[in-house]
Amino acid sequence: MTSGVLGKIKGWLDTILQSGNMPSRRPVLKKHNESNVKNMYVIGDLAGAPVIKLAMKQGYEVIEHIASLPDAKNGKSDVFDVAIAGSGAAGLNAALEAKERGLTHVVLEKAKIANTIEDFPEKKWVYAEPDATPPKGKLWLDGAQKEDLIARWHQIVKENQLNVKAEEGVDAIKRVPEGVFEVRTAKGAYKAKRVIVAVGQRGNPRKLHVPGENREQVYHRLYSPRHYTGEQILVVGGGNSAVEAALVLSEQNKVVLSYRGDQFARIFKDNERQLNEAIAARKIEPILNSNIKEFKDRTYALEVNEGGKKTLREIPYDHAFVLIGAELPVEFLKSIGIRLENEWEGNLWAAAALTLAALAGLAIFGPDARMKTLAFVPAWLGGLLALGALASLLFTGFRGNRYAWLGASFLAFYTVYGAKVGKGQELWPFNGWGYAFLSFFNRPWSFWYTVLYTVVMTVFGIQAMKRWGFDRKDKFQIWRYVSLISFQWVFFFLIPEFLFQWAVKYQWVGEALANDPKFAGQAWRTYGIVYAWPLFFYTFFYDPHRIWILWGVLLTFVLIPIFAFFHGKRYCSWICGCGGLAETFGDRWRHQAPKGKTSARWEWMNLAILIFLGGNCCNAGEGSV
Ligand SMILES: Cc1cc2nc3c(=O)[nH]c(=O)nc-3n(C[C@H](O)[C@H](O)[C@H](O)COP(=O)(O)OP(=O)(O)OC[C@H]3O[C@@H](n4cnc5c(N)ncnc54)[C@H](O)[C@@H]3O)c2cc1C
Repeated sequence: MTSGVLGKIKGWLDTILQSGNMPSRRPVLKKHNESNVKNMYVIGDLAGAPVIKLAMKQGYEVIEHIASLPDAKNGKSDVFDVAIAGSGAAGLNAALEAKERGLTHVVLEKAKIANTIEDFPEKKWVYAEPDATPPKGKLWLDGAQKEDLIARWHQIVKENQLNVKAEEGVDAIKRVPEGVFEVRTAKGAYKAKRVIVAVGQRGNPRKLHVPGENREQVYHRLYSPRHYTGEQILVVGGGNSAVEAALVLSEQNKVVLSYRGDQFARIFKDNERQLNEAIAARKIEPILNSNIKEFKDRTYALEVNEGGKKTLREIPYDHAFVLIGAELPVEFLKSIGIRLENEWEGNLWAAAALTLAALAGLAIFGPDARMKTLAFVPAWLGGLLALGALASLLFTGFRGNRYAWLGASFLAFYTVYGAKVGKGQELWPFNGWGYAFLSFFNRPWSFWYTVLYTVVMTVFGIQAMKRWGFDRKDKFQIWRYVSLISFQWVFFFLIPEFLFQWAVKYQWVGEALANDPKFAGQAWRTYGIVYAWPLFFYTFFYDPHRIWILWGVLLTFVLIPIFAFFHGKRYCSWICGCGGLAETFGDRWRHQAPKGKTSARWEWMNLAILIFLGGNCCNAGEGSV
């Protein structure tokens, strides 16, 4: 019975936590693309490089790093300095650089050299984007037809005498007692000091998982587009592969391009231009916000969302191409010991027990929280228990138990809460000093919270601005981060914490308002200058001055809707401090954000809880921001 209830709780918890395990997850990588397995590196598509040029860059840089290590060359004739799995853009460029720097290497390739590109549709134009980034390393890259690019790469492999073993895929990688890796293929085993995993993810096309998807007229790749003429073709997807397939197929067929998103935002500029032309010429019919429900024999069922109203259409087709990306080779990566991001591994119950032990230790430690029933246990033993439990949590956390981090975070929050409450009533052992200690310079907690928020946003905002703006020479991104950081400084720090008080003191707001105690005493309401209701929940509650109500109505119901009409969701990513923290501090972990239906549901629940809590706080008359 108990285990049933506990099992259910764990199931719920796992549902929330693992909603982050979306298909686009990646291996956990440290600096220089090293995985959790020491001396094993992951590069290219697998490591999030979405295009050839960036995959090449990673291949070049990983060798640049390895060559800089004191033990880069192992000096043994039967042990390669590097074994590279995969001969795509990343693997080949790494091999070329290894050769250049005198490292011995072997490249093991499951199929043909550069197999992913070999598999591109015939005569496909290969783009060399991003334009602003020059290619790194010896592998050639320029806009070219696939066949020409492949021919050049074969020539480069030959001229540089790369040690590439095609049709010899890696089956297993193990560390052997000599401290090196043994890389196993069907034909033999190779020893290597370091391993670079560059196997891409194209061998594993993503599926829609809808009924009828395994019919013979539904494909997950397009090889010979010119083979189809005068047919009704469906292409599913919104990335470059889908758009390019739709474009080439539309030359001789009638094409419907179904995409679940509301715009084709992730495609090369040239593809975008050609797509717009094909749509204008009625060669391609795009159906946005649409989801395939079923493939039948001669028709497919497509659910289309038009302004919130969903309709089901039956559309005839001869062939369908589902080109919605590829799945990570999870089994392969796990079999060689590589951990993936967002994996909730570890023992939940051990983490929960350690967290409770830490709390019990605090309760015994006292002096104020000292539980009478535990008075017979010496206080020092409580302290020891709390410290020991916390240390064990951190230790198991670092060893891979992610639940332990939940426990440690809970203790951290609890400590902050305890320090704030400080009355010894919440099992918190200290009385008052925590609050006093943290209220430095006679400023309330809220002030230091704002300072911390602003500092974090500024530091991480500048880093994100460098990454997306300066490094890519993208003015849009530079201005976006300048805007976010400036709004934070001016409207969420300087005005509420300083300028408002000065405006009242020096009567910049006019004599009447400055002398109105209700207005003058509510500096915290200036957050409502930019935060609309209910983001700033108190706009209409907790005795606001009428000026704030008027402004709140104008902002919430007039200005922001107009702004959203012309600029979409830009309020969140250019102005709002709440979105700002996610855009700056959260930027480097953005790809880990849970996506998909389950996480959307949890997000909605989050909102419902917030509104409920907001309402309750309001009723209780707690008003500080
Ligand atoms: C249809 C399509 C069109 C595209 N168009 C463009 C474009 O125009 N421009 C652009 O820049 N990018 C384009 N891309 C993206 C580009 O193909 C990838 O970014 C790039 O190929 C990634 O290089 P990589 O070396 O990381 O992986 P890959 O090129 O995928 O290479 C991985 C290699 O590893 C091999 N392999 C797999 N498993 C094993 C194993 N177990 N052992 C040994 N070898 C293994 C594979 O056979 C493959 O040869 C396109 C992608 C697709 C699917």
